Amino acid sequence: MRLQGWREVLTRRMSFAFVILGVGAALYSPEAMAKDPGACTAGTMLLLSAPEASQGSLLLIEVKSAKPLAAVQGDWGGRSVPMWREGADEARQKGLLGVDLEKAPGEYELKIAGETASGEKMSCSVKVAVRQGRFATESLQVGQEFVEPSPEQVKRANEERQKLRDIFDRVTPERLWDGPFRIPLDGVTTGSNFGKRRILNGNPGSPHGGMDLPGTTGTPVHAAQRGNVALAEELFFSGNTVVLDHGLGIYTFYGHLSEIDVKAGDSLETGAVLGKVGATGRVTGPHLHWGLTVERARVNPLLLVRLLGNPPDTPARKKPSKRRAR
Ligand SMILES: [Zn+2]
Repeated sequence: MRLQGWREVLTRRMSFAFVILGVGAALYSPEAMAKDPGACTAGTMLLLSAPEASQGSLLLIEVKSAKPLAAVQGDWGGRSVPMWREGADEARQKGLLGVDLEKAPGEYELKIAGETASGEKMSCSVKVAVRQGRFATESLQVGQEFVEPSPEQVKRANEERQKLRDIFDRVTPERLWDGPFRIPLDGVTTGSNFGKRRILNGNPGSPHGGMDLPGTTGTPVHAAQRGNVALAEELFFSGNTVVLDHGLGIYTFYGHLSEIDVKAGDSLETGAVLGKVGATGRVTGPHLHWGLTVERARVNPLLLVRLLGNPPDTPARKKPSKRRAR
């Protein structure tokens, strides 16, 4: 990971411990992994992209049945799980399990329930463990005005936080996206600071809910997938901000834009330019703050690109060719 050069800090202590989340083409059957098998009825099978989860991560779910499936719903510890059918295969459904950045570690039961096309009830149940995420911690000494905003600023920030919550609470019942998600900046393959804990003048702040992508002011910012603009306005913390609704409770967030090129209600295709990289809001230098919310869970947006980034049924990445010895 690269250190960001844009932060003006007097002291900085950083500790990095990164978990590379392996997201291959393989899906694991909970039955094969767990001592206590995840039970499925009506000849159905449940597959997960990883045997367990960590804070801020995302798992791909697949439900396979011998018979065509009608409606299928997912529930994970009281939160619904976005589920959808892809392509012509009526016996398969996919889903996304978003693990919030601050979800308490522990075991949570994933329940899938639905009906086959002929009306037969089906259900699956498996316990998914959540581990503590490993995030960087940064201690900063900053000017008091950064730590103690004015009462008007606090009021504004609280109102905007509630406005965003209300947006993320709304679940558009249709899947608006179609195909892989992309990273919103051309030529950028990764970012930094997801989940970073910041301690300002000794006081822990809320964790960084998105990923910072490097970019210079004016760089075009592209829609990660097809979606509707749920918000396009200037906010206190994130400056010029766009939020895209991709349907099924999945939202992407683009912050600190120098300019916004869309308006609320617009329908965007994948890759459409929604604005330009900038340094608006509470930042000290240009970059794109990119966030992903899945059913209100703040998760690492890169994982969505990795999980849905390859067209279905493509083989896993080819082995690299042999390196020539130097
Ligand atoms: Zn950020």
